[in-house]
Amino acid sequence: MIQVCGYAAQQAKASLTPYSFTRRDPREHDVVIDIQYSGICHSDIHQVNDGWGTSAYPMVPGHEIVGVVSQVGQKVTRYKVGDRTGVGNFIDSCRKCGPCLKGLEQYCVKGATWTYNAVERQDGKSTPTQGGYSNKIVVDENYVLSIPDTLSPDRAAPLLCAGITLYSPLMHWRAGPGKKVAIIGFGGLGHIGAKIAHAVGAEVTIFSHSSNKQEEAKKMGVDNFCITTEQTVFKELKGYFDLMINTVSVELNLNKYLKLLALDGTMVVVGLPENEIRIGPFSLVNARRSIAGSAIGGIRETQEMLEFCNKHNIACDIELVPIQKVNEAYERVVNSDVRYRFVIDVANSLKCKDNIQL
Ligand code: NAP
Ligand code: ZN
Ligand code: ZN
Repeated sequence: MIQVCGYAAQQAKASLTPYSFTRRDPREHDVVIDIQYSGICHSDIHQVNDGWGTSAYPMVPGHEIVGVVSQVGQKVTRYKVGDRTGVGNFIDSCRKCGPCLKGLEQYCVKGATWTYNAVERQDGKSTPTQGGYSNKIVVDENYVLSIPDTLSPDRAAPLLCAGITLYSPLMHWRAGPGKKVAIIGFGGLGHIGAKIAHAVGAEVTIFSHSSNKQEEAKKMGVDNFCITTEQTVFKELKGYFDLMINTVSVELNLNKYLKLLALDGTMVVVGLPENEIRIGPFSLVNARRSIAGSAIGGIRETQEMLEFCNKHNIACDIELVPIQKVNEAYERVVNSDVRYRFVIDVANSLKCKDNIQL
């Protein structure tokens, strides 16, 4: 076994504290990755807080992982020692169902194996999976991404969840020239969505619950910035948008936003609040509107997104933090006070000797 150290929540709603654990020795198709950077996604916070139901503890969160391959199994062909790689939200899936065969492993009928807060698929021992707030991870090469050399690795880390979560619906619902796209919530997901939507040529509008980020939004290619506490925007923009993507982490009155969709417009829900949302039928039927959902992206599409971001010079705006500051970072994310993603500087701040935390 490989000794690993990291930070874990020992129980629901607990602060994260140093934690040592083991990972499997690499199997034939595994790569061992020495983690350099790990993004902090709001999903980490929901899960540490049992927000989506009962989580498994101790929990080492983190599914926006970038690092360097330090060891490979005997049959690995896709990666070699020294390669810069990434790991996102899932590390395995059934590989046989319809979605898996289409490269949409996140929709695996049997359930994808999540990077943390899940159990390993292949060892039959219910070994808990543990994420990227740690110094090493062992993953099957088929679930590992290649990080282009010209992308800065710390700013690339959040692309592995935030980036793909917006790229996938923007592509699926064909955002592009002539399309009016609104993104609700200008946080980790929202800011990278704005950059991608701008890069494909769409008109981009942000809905934000304060004016704090208005100036920065312009620099990211945002065409219009609407402050949602100003009720006039909900009157003036009725029937305007072709596509709205809701990234907000808390419950909103979606009916107000649905009315801003044009004929046949779609709202895609990607934010995952902890309580249910009520939708009035009239918000949908009046303009043949749709409401849909989308989860991250498959391995193939995530690799495509990384190449797209590299080509268009897109990366996340980040605040790099030492792992010791993770609990403060969580508080600031909950208060929408991050520009725009915290990334943990794992390699430079997590001090382990013989992989035991110092
Ligand atoms: P984040 O950085 O905290 O961004 C969420 C944004 O929502 C905030 O920046 C804020 O934007 C807005 N917001 C927060 N609290 C609000 C409030 N009380 N009232 C109104 N607006 C509020 O979080 P994130 O990492 O982008 O994740 C967003 C959500 O997506 C989370 O629920 C996460 O679990 C989920 N998620 C889903 C997927 C998927 O595959 N579907 C993947 C990753 C994450 P403004 O300040 O601009 O208003
Ligand atoms: Zn995430
Ligand atoms: Zn499957």
